[in-house]
Amino acid sequence: MANNQYKADIGLEVHVELATRSKMFCSCAVVDPISAPPNTAVCPVCCGMPGVLPVINRNAVELAIKAGLALNCQIAETSIFARKNYFYPDLPKGYQISQYEYPLAYDGFMLIRTSQGEKRIRVRRAHLEEDTGKLTHMNENGETYSLVNLNRAGVPLLEIVSEPDMHTVEEVLAYSHELRLLLRWLGVSSGDMEKGSMRFEANLSMRPVDCEELGTRVEVKNLNSFRAMELAILYQMKMQEETLSRGGKVEQQTLGWSEANNKTVVQRSKEDANDYRYFPEPDLPPLVVDSPWLQAVKASMPEMPAAKRARYAGEMGLNGEDIERLVEEKENVRFFEDCLAAAPALNPKTIVNWMLTDLFAWLNINGKAIDTVDPKLFVQLVEAVDEGVINQSTGKEVLVEMLESGKTPSAIIEAKGLHQISDNSLITSLVSSVLQANPKEVQSYLAGKETLANWLFGQVMREAQGKANPQVVKTELQRQLDAMK
Ligand SMILES: [Zn+2]
Repeated sequence: MANNQYKADIGLEVHVELATRSKMFCSCAVVDPISAPPNTAVCPVCCGMPGVLPVINRNAVELAIKAGLALNCQIAETSIFARKNYFYPDLPKGYQISQYEYPLAYDGFMLIRTSQGEKRIRVRRAHLEEDTGKLTHMNENGETYSLVNLNRAGVPLLEIVSEPDMHTVEEVLAYSHELRLLLRWLGVSSGDMEKGSMRFEANLSMRPVDCEELGTRVEVKNLNSFRAMELAILYQMKMQEETLSRGGKVEQQTLGWSEANNKTVVQRSKEDANDYRYFPEPDLPPLVVDSPWLQAVKASMPEMPAAKRARYAGEMGLNGEDIERLVEEKENVRFFEDCLAAAPALNPKTIVNWMLTDLFAWLNINGKAIDTVDPKLFVQLVEAVDEGVINQSTGKEVLVEMLESGKTPSAIIEAKGLHQISDNSLITSLVSSVLQANPKEVQSYLAGKETLANWLFGQVMREAQGKANPQVVKTELQRQLDAMK
């Protein structure tokens, strides 16, 4: 009953590491956070030494513009970098360069698809900033200390802030998945959550369903997986609802998600923006994105997932589930479209069926990526089955051999004599010899035991060593049986 009395308003702040080769304001390489030795990709700029000057990474700006365009944002002609001042051991400068009053992108939205239909989630802003270093907290023999690794300090980040337009966990997950898809699609970020390339924070408040005004919000940080996000939001919704139901007040605070305890834990009472004493970064000029630059980035945008989905459903009649499996990886789409180009006469559905079942199964088992497969060879195989040169089950065998050996399907079919028997006179005689050899079964069939038709079909296929065209065999078998009635 309580479920219907309160409604949640949820917004997400997502930090995304941009897929640049170098850092946001210096030429240090962006290195793998796990394998690179600590503090090896650092320089005086990202270490925060006095007297050094930051320089804006042009590629980071372009990736951020792409993300902004994909999120239907306005792109500011002039945006301003600002210093966000606070002290923490992972931030040697004592401030983080971010954007505050004048972000690069603002006033956008993203469409998400849920069981309740399509929904528009407004995106308030997307701004550029730099990442901090990373602390590792150690505990050895009761002694605690922290290690500082500055490899990550200065890595370009895009912070994407939504309005609190989401009301259910389903909507939050739909938004996050779609956002990750878009960013990966554009090559803006790897979206690798295990490596911290994409990090989520949720703000959440509850209010009585008949109340217009939003409730007091809490922020939940450290949501480093979709699962953690789902659990943390459900947990907070339950907590706040309980507090409100018994007439209590929700406190404004910042929480962390504790994976170990499956609960949120208080990190600190919420600081306000003025605690950070933002001011424009004096060492950087305003970031100007003029019209030619913006047009050039626009022109470089690929066809987006939403357009692909519409085209695959409309022109090709693919079903929703298959479309999602294609669209979830850009490499899948590329492969599929290469197949279409190589075999325009084939039905796209036939290509998709072979791709999503047998090909994907083989790739999974063998731990291979789809870009290791030649789409031209693959469609030759699909065509061979489609044209009846080999039957479906032989096709599966040829596919595996093709993938393992790299030989063309026609070479494999030729070498093994796998051509399907579609020769009608041959099939006619195969069927009649099977019927003559099995008079008892034929009699039972004629007496009404119809399932024996399948058994007889199996006998003919076995005689033909699996190479007969099953459709032709079926028709011929039925014709001969009917003639006996
Ligand atoms: Zn550096």
